[in-house]
Amino acid sequence: MKKLIDKLQEDKYLKKEELDYIISNIDENNTLYLMDKADRVRKKIYGKEVYLRGLVEFTNFCRNDCKYCGIRLSNKNAKRYRIDKKSIVNICKKGFELGYRTFVLQGGEDLKYKDSDIVEIVKNIKKVCKENVAVTLSIGERSYESYKKFYDAGADRFLIRHETISKNLYEKLHPNMSYENRIKCLESLKKIGYQIGAGFMVGVPGQTNMDLAKDLLFLKKLQPHMVGIGPFIPHKETPFKNESPGDVRKTIVLLSLIRLLLPKVLLPATTALATASGNGRANGLKAGANVIMPNLTPEVYRKKYMLYNNKKSSGTEEATQLENIRKEIKEYGYCVDMGRGDHIDNMYVTQI
Ligand code: SAH
Repeated sequence: MKKLIDKLQEDKYLKKEELDYIISNIDENNTLYLMDKADRVRKKIYGKEVYLRGLVEFTNFCRNDCKYCGIRLSNKNAKRYRIDKKSIVNICKKGFELGYRTFVLQGGEDLKYKDSDIVEIVKNIKKVCKENVAVTLSIGERSYESYKKFYDAGADRFLIRHETISKNLYEKLHPNMSYENRIKCLESLKKIGYQIGAGFMVGVPGQTNMDLAKDLLFLKKLQPHMVGIGPFIPHKETPFKNESPGDVRKTIVLLSLIRLLLPKVLLPATTALATASGNGRANGLKAGANVIMPNLTPEVYRKKYMLYNNKKSSGTEEATQLENIRKEIKEYGYCVDMGRGDHIDNMYVTQI
């Protein structure tokens, strides 16, 4: 096992069978060994810094029906909301005053926000913030032309998890969606010039360790700037309500593997990981993660953006939340960086 783990850093492709073997057989001791390696690689590239992104969940309307997700179209019990354009910009302005320099606008796939609306929001965020800030979009699938318009308006990054590279599993999880289009979106975004983020859930029903191994090889080939992963957590109003949640240690193992396979990647310790386990965030950071996304969504909406049961939310006002996160990060031996936190290859380009 240790030999295989050491091979990960040689920047040679591992075989999918070898990755499957690691994921399936790694024990607690070797998990610590793997985490330590990942942590060293992360420190060598990004130091002890943890980048913070202000997350704005601006709509929970969605046209899709992903089997695992609490805001799927068929969930008639979800209380739907949309935050208007002006308010979204104001939330970011307040975040800017607190020190945030990256904003992530995330939502269900909600076409009520037309391309021109997203363009306006992005431009206005850039205008009201008096310094160079980064805007990340996470609004699902749109056309190449739409993505290009958002980029030209100033959007810097785009998160769209590929969810799984197994076509068969993808189609089981996503009724009426196209696997090919999902991948095409990532390719278009990259071509346009965005810093792109892919990713997947760990332990979603029907997923095998071999599927995860293939996800890792896909990431290695795609070379995204960011990778978001977290454990699957059931939601009580979805077809997966009685399924078991994803394994936390497995998620940690995958975080470390991703750090070793893509040393320069921006890797968040996600809310799902913090929800699934009390020390999820601490272990995520110790396993190579270097990003945290505190929630700037106003309190009234936060409980409605319920992708899964008991989604962790601090329930405190933004300034206190930030203070708590700062303390927490320091406690784990890392430090907060409130800069834009670009991917290391983009740092000098975007910060002039
Ligand atoms: N609509 C956007 C944003 C999706 S929500 C898009 O399509 O990209 C962000 C991520 O939350 C999803 O990509 C999914 O991987 C994750 N997610 C959804 N439901 C979840 C659940 N039940 N447990 C854990 N993660 C979930």
